[in-house]
Amino acid sequence: METTNVKAYGTKAADAPLKPMNIERREATAKDIEIEILYCGVCHSDLHTARNDWGGTIYPAVPGHEIVGKVTKVGSEVTKLKAGDYAAVGCMVDSCRECDSCKHDLEQYCFNGLTGTYNGHDKHLGGHTFGGYSEKVVVDEHFVLKVPSNLDLAAAAPLLCAGVTTWSPLRHWNVGKGSKVAVVGLGGLGHMAIKLAKGLGADVTLFSRTPDKKKDGMELGADAVIISTDNVQMNTVKGKFDLIIDTVPYIHDINPYVSTLNINGTLVLVGYLGGLEPILNTVPMILGRKSVAGSVIGGIAETQELLDFCGEHNIVSEIEIIKIQDINEAYERMLKSDVRYRFVIDMASLKQ
Ligand code: NAP
Ligand code: ZN
Ligand code: ZN
Repeated sequence: METTNVKAYGTKAADAPLKPMNIERREATAKDIEIEILYCGVCHSDLHTARNDWGGTIYPAVPGHEIVGKVTKVGSEVTKLKAGDYAAVGCMVDSCRECDSCKHDLEQYCFNGLTGTYNGHDKHLGGHTFGGYSEKVVVDEHFVLKVPSNLDLAAAAPLLCAGVTTWSPLRHWNVGKGSKVAVVGLGGLGHMAIKLAKGLGADVTLFSRTPDKKKDGMELGADAVIISTDNVQMNTVKGKFDLIIDTVPYIHDINPYVSTLNINGTLVLVGYLGGLEPILNTVPMILGRKSVAGSVIGGIAETQELLDFCGEHNIVSEIEIIKIQDINEAYERMLKSDVRYRFVIDMASLKQ
C-alpha cells in the first residue's frame, strides 16, 4: 500500500518527552478522507497513553484524538465530505461494523474491539495507529464528523472527546429540564459536562477540590460549586443528584459522592480506570436503589448529534492554544490540574 511520510510529535518511551518524529499515512482508499490537521485538543488520555499509565502503550506513541482539520483528498466512493470542507475525527478510526454494537451506532462498544485513533491496531498498514499530533490523517468516512460552520474550529476540537464523553452519559440517563446533575472535577471533561448539562436544561452542581475554581465553575454555568474536601459543604447536598459524572483521572474515594445521589440516582465513572479504594460501600446503593456505572466516549452518530447540538447552542470548549513544542510543559500543567480548561495545539506550529 502506498504511503506518505508526514511530520508528527510523539514519544518513544514512557519516561521520554514528546519530540518531533516522522510517521507514515496511507494514501486515501475509495472510502477514505484525507485531512490536513489544523487543531488537536490535548486529552488527559493522551498523557496516560504517552506515559503508559494503563499499560499496553505501543511505542513510538503519537497521541491526539480531538482532531479538526480541512479535507485535502477524498476517495472515489466518499459522499460525506469533499476537498476543502472542514472535518473532525475523535477517538475511533474504525470498528468491525458488523457486530450488534456497531449495528446499533455503538461503535465504542464494538465486540471485536474499536480501533483507537492512536495505539490501535492499524488494519490498513499493520502496526499501530498514530493520533492527531501530526500533519495529516487518513480515515474511513464513517468515522469522520462534520463541524457546524458557526463554531470556532480550535474551540470545537475538544468536543470530539471531552464533549462526547460527557454528552453520552447525559443522553443515556435522559438528562433534561429538571434533572439534577453533578460533575466531579473541573478539567477538560468536567467543564464540557457543565456546559452540556446546562444546555440540556439541567440544574448543575460542580464538585471540585480546588477552591479557586469556584468562580470559573459558576461562570461556566454551574448553579452551585461544592468544595469536595469540605465535609460541611458535602453534607448540604446529600440525596440530591439524579446523575453524577465523575471525571477524576486517578484513584479516589467515591463513597462520599454516592451519598449525594437521590433514590435511583447513578454515579457514572468516566475518568479513573481500575480498582476502587477505599472499598465501595453497597449499603447506600441497596437502600437507595443507586447505581455506580461506567461509560466510554460515544458512538459516531451520537458524536455528530453532539456537534450539531453545540452548533445550535453555540457551545464550545474554553481553550488555551499552545504550540506543539509546548506539549511536554502542557502535560506537567495537566498533572497539577492547571488547565483552564483544555489545551489545543495549533498544528501550524509543527511546520516550524
Ligand atoms: P483533566 O483536564 O486533567 O481534568 C481532570 C480534573 O480532575 C482536574 O482538573 C481536577 O479537577 C480533578 N483531579 C485531578 N486529579 C485528581 C485527583 N487525584 N483527585 C481528585 N480530583 C482530581 O483531565 P480530562 O482530560 O478531563 O480527563 C479526565 C479523565 O477522563 C482522564 O483519566 C482521561 O483519561 C479520562 N477520559 C475518559 C474517557 C472515556 O471515554 N471514559 C474519555 C476521555 C478522557 P479539580 O481541580 O476541580 O478537582
Ligand atoms: Zn480523550
Ligand atoms: Zn463491532
